[in-house]
Amino acid sequence: MTAHPVDVVSTAPNDAAADPYDAAVGLSATARALYDRGWMPGTSGNISIRSGADAVLITASGLGKGRLTSADTVLVRADTGAPVRPGSLRPSAETCIHLAVYRAFPAVGAVVHAHPPYATALASRRSRAGGGPVRFTDLELIKGMGRSYLDSIEIPLFANWREVPRIAAEVGEHFARPATDPAPALLIAHHGATTWGADLAEASDRLECLETLCQLALLIGD
Ligand SMILES: [Zn+2]
Repeated sequence: MTAHPVDVVSTAPNDAAADPYDAAVGLSATARALYDRGWMPGTSGNISIRSGADAVLITASGLGKGRLTSADTVLVRADTGAPVRPGSLRPSAETCIHLAVYRAFPAVGAVVHAHPPYATALASRRSRAGGGPVRFTDLELIKGMGRSYLDSIEIPLFANWREVPRIAAEVGEHFARPATDPAPALLIAHHGATTWGADLAEASDRLECLETLCQLALLIGD
């Protein structure tokens, strides 16, 4: 039996990945585009799309993002991160962070994680300065993060633990706390950035805006 996602993705109503072939194509095309921007060097970075109520389609582990194809994706259970079908490709090592986001935000349909340089640099500088959220004020691009009515936004910053499930646990704990309209993004010090949205286009647009916000913050200075 082939592991091609066309065969394995569920197609529940209102599914962000209602057309499973499109979902796999979208994941791989987005990965190649982010690789071309230099945000997914080598095999780094990972992208996922919610597939029905109980599963997530995510990029497979250890494959060069510049060469990714629609077959290089794997359907995993939303509760455990285990492949739905035995013999599938191995899912991204950072699948658990994606699942923490999906659990926290039921309306989220896609999650993008990459290593864009300005976001990584700003997150690392913030961590060395004592940590805490990264706050942007006044910049027009804040609107690109879904903040049309606010002039500031705070992006939570997490430590880059060697054990990825520890990062995922801290992400889950953070977003389990009641918050008014939390940002659709997080930063991991010395590592990279993760954004999410209703669909893959919104999630990747937000990553572009976050990276530029970080670039502007570094240019403007303290
Ligand atoms: Zn990463």
